Amino acid sequence: MSHKCHPQTLASNAGVGANSEFQAIAPPLYLGANYRWNRSDEKPQYDYGRSGNPTRATLEQALADLEGAAGCSVTASGMAAIHLVLCLLQPGEAVIAPHDCYGGTQRLLNAYAQTGRLKVNFVDQTNLGAVEAALAKGARMLFLETPSNPLLRITDISACVALAAKSDTLVVTDNTFLSPALQNPLALGCDIVVHSTTKLINGHSDVIGGAVLAKTDPLAEELSWWANTTGVTGAPFDSYQTLRGLRTLFARVQQQQCSAGRFAETLLGRPEVKQVYYPGLPIHPGHEIARRQQRGFGSMLSVEFADGVNVVEFLAKLRVFNVAESLGGFESLACVPATMTHAAMTPEARQIAGISDGLVRFSIGLEHVDDLIGDVFAALDGVSPS
Ligand code: PLP
Repeated sequence: MSHKCHPQTLASNAGVGANSEFQAIAPPLYLGANYRWNRSDEKPQYDYGRSGNPTRATLEQALADLEGAAGCSVTASGMAAIHLVLCLLQPGEAVIAPHDCYGGTQRLLNAYAQTGRLKVNFVDQTNLGAVEAALAKGARMLFLETPSNPLLRITDISACVALAAKSDTLVVTDNTFLSPALQNPLALGCDIVVHSTTKLINGHSDVIGGAVLAKTDPLAEELSWWANTTGVTGAPFDSYQTLRGLRTLFARVQQQQCSAGRFAETLLGRPEVKQVYYPGLPIHPGHEIARRQQRGFGSMLSVEFADGVNVVEFLAKLRVFNVAESLGGFESLACVPATMTHAAMTPEARQIAGISDGLVRFSIGLEHVDDLIGDVFAALDGVSPS
């Protein structure tokens, strides 16, 4: 397909028409683990499923096209993708990471730091002075997550890239919260993008997967070598499902972020609500940067409720929202990061990151927004101190 097509067309038509045998519109699923060699001295295009698989390769090409990457490695999970990126580090090298990144990322970085594999420095990346100071101490990798999970903080990617360029530090962005439909970190100067494809890219809450995308061929080849060597590559069926989800990514994202904007504005008016963290609101401190570096504000938001609102009881009263971890799927979700997604962080680390016990994170799905607002209002009516 022509690379001049709009990204939405690339996503919806990925791999379509590539089947030469029967001309199936939907590309077939190749489950085979191994491939026959015609001669033992002539390596075929695919020889072993961990190293390469045609279904996974179709997804990898589609994601590379969407992120403007030289290459992509599809992995078994988002955490496998982050682990893969960390394989680029030599023992003892330092990573700068956001102080409020996904709890699993914090856990992995802390575990690697505690076992002496690398050093980690968690900083508030919305504070460019703090990023600069951390870079001055020496770091091989600057790992960004923007918008951050769960507080939707916005980091200025281009500004961080400019700071990192002075010390030749690799800049990686976790683009899970927006997907390539709304943000392309490589175009903003990053070296690597990671995704948990479990979220928006698959969008149907039935696959765990990840992807690593690199700006240059050598970096893409190095990552692909590590993916094969460590065995973190994604399964064919998961790739097939994810490719199917990807076809509707743009339509889902548009609908979901439209609802998220209305949901955020409406919640602001409730007396039980202390703060709404949604980058689309002009009061959000990262609003202007988000306008500049994103093509939309996404479908995630978090809400700080006033003292006296028992968030556990509030969540228990929700009927349309599901109380569950994860995000970016067709279904709307509510969670308490402190006891769910970010429970792996110590209470001190959560406090430093600003993640209170009363914070509720919402992932807005494809239901009618009036049903979502009505659900939250009814639950609040049921728990509000009278
Ligand atoms: N990155 C972010 C921003 C996430 O929210 C998550 C999971 O919630 C991950 C990475 C990890 O992805 P996975 O659960 O697919 O391993």
